Amino acid sequence: MFESFDGTGTPPRQIQRDFLKFVEENWGAPVIAGTLPCGSGKSYLAKSIMEEVPGTVYITANNVLVKQMKEFYPDLNVLIGKKHYTCVKSPQTTCEDAWRKRSHRPCGNCDYYKARQAALRDKVPTCYNAISYWFSMLDPAWVPPKVLIIDEADKLVEMMMLVSGSSFGPRFNPPKNMEFIDVADWLRSKENLLQAVVERGDNKVASEAIMDIDRIQRTLEGVTLSPTKYCHVYDENGDLIIQPIEPPTELLQKLLRCETLILMSATLYQRDIHRLTDKKYVHKEFESPIDASRRKIILKEGYVNMKYDTHPEIVASWIKDRLQEYPGKNTIVHVTYAMSKKLKRYFKGAYTNTPEDKEEILKQFKLNGGLWLASGCAEGIDLHDKLCELTLIPILNSPNIEDPIYKRRLALPSGQEDYDLQVLKTVQQQSGRATRHPLDFSLTIVGSKRFKTLTDRYRQELPASYLEQIREDRK
Ligand code: SF4
Repeated sequence: MFESFDGTGTPPRQIQRDFLKFVEENWGAPVIAGTLPCGSGKSYLAKSIMEEVPGTVYITANNVLVKQMKEFYPDLNVLIGKKHYTCVKSPQTTCEDAWRKRSHRPCGNCDYYKARQAALRDKVPTCYNAISYWFSMLDPAWVPPKVLIIDEADKLVEMMMLVSGSSFGPRFNPPKNMEFIDVADWLRSKENLLQAVVERGDNKVASEAIMDIDRIQRTLEGVTLSPTKYCHVYDENGDLIIQPIEPPTELLQKLLRCETLILMSATLYQRDIHRLTDKKYVHKEFESPIDASRRKIILKEGYVNMKYDTHPEIVASWIKDRLQEYPGKNTIVHVTYAMSKKLKRYFKGAYTNTPEDKEEILKQFKLNGGLWLASGCAEGIDLHDKLCELTLIPILNSPNIEDPIYKRRLALPSGQEDYDLQVLKTVQQQSGRATRHPLDFSLTIVGSKRFKTLTDRYRQELPASYLEQIREDRK
């Protein structure tokens, strides 16, 4: 098995041989899980398995990773959201808009339709992002795959929690003080009303209603299948939010149906596997192929403990000090969107990005180098070698605790632990963007002492390859 490796004739590296051997030895186990540090070449591993085992489906966390996989494996069929494809019959329209029209009759000429047919009817090896895979399951032609590989597997729970909930503003007229027991009936009544709108509305009205029905159905399915995992809250505007606060196990079981489930991630902890599945599993943590001295995460004694409300001038001054300490290096600074806007005036010529222009800014940064005040860039970015040698994390990136749903999640018995580990994982991901192969080198500097407190507290939970990166600099 896996003799051909990825089909390119390139011999596998040691960690890749080890992982494939682990998969081979445990073939037949319902779940095979590997914690594979950054630089393991997970795309190569997925390709190997897809080439060797017909009927394998591969899921990644987001579109950037799907596109990277396609670049690496051009013959691969890929399927992402309809809004990323153009309707051939009406080229100024996305496939999503075309599909939403009541009058839409699929002609089968667009890339979206072809990719979907190839995946569902012809069963060719396909890479999806997680959300597209979720939608593909609604197609009557969908059958569980033989092998399902999930990359960035630990993100799947959060993602399913997001897509299986929804918020309802004034146009839905949500009743005040509704009891949870009435939520499913209320959702059904809204769905029926919207179905009637679709029946009699013009294309534009019907298209909006179809979109609403879609999210109501997803939320309703979750609420019906996993009622004890859901809650409903009203935000400060009175909008009704219905969202799971624990992993919606039944939805995940549905999503993860297959003969063999293979989980891979650099940040896959034991607790993530328990959150994803209750099936028997084998799990192995693989040693990093990159020596710890080449991917150090440094916390210096005496640093200011910066938080979200720290004045941008203090944050800017900390960043300037680090740039002086390590001059001439292409540098990525991980900050929130709000903080990047505030910091921009302190750094002339620095790149900043929005969710929409992230890929374009990444291209420019790769081309020109310099300083990038990057937001939403903890994953899916490959800045190898000189493209980036210094990573700065002035403030730990934490989920927003003012969010009413997050408050409910924090109140659960494991809420604080889940929250803290999420913060630590984000640092691990951010530091992994700039050291990509065994001869690569980069340095990460963290500006928050809370990082030390958390790594000390959760030492038992963290992969050894992560712990060995962390150094305290007492200079
Ligand atoms: S199937 Fe045909 S009509 Fe529908 S979106 Fe694709 S190209 Fe447009």
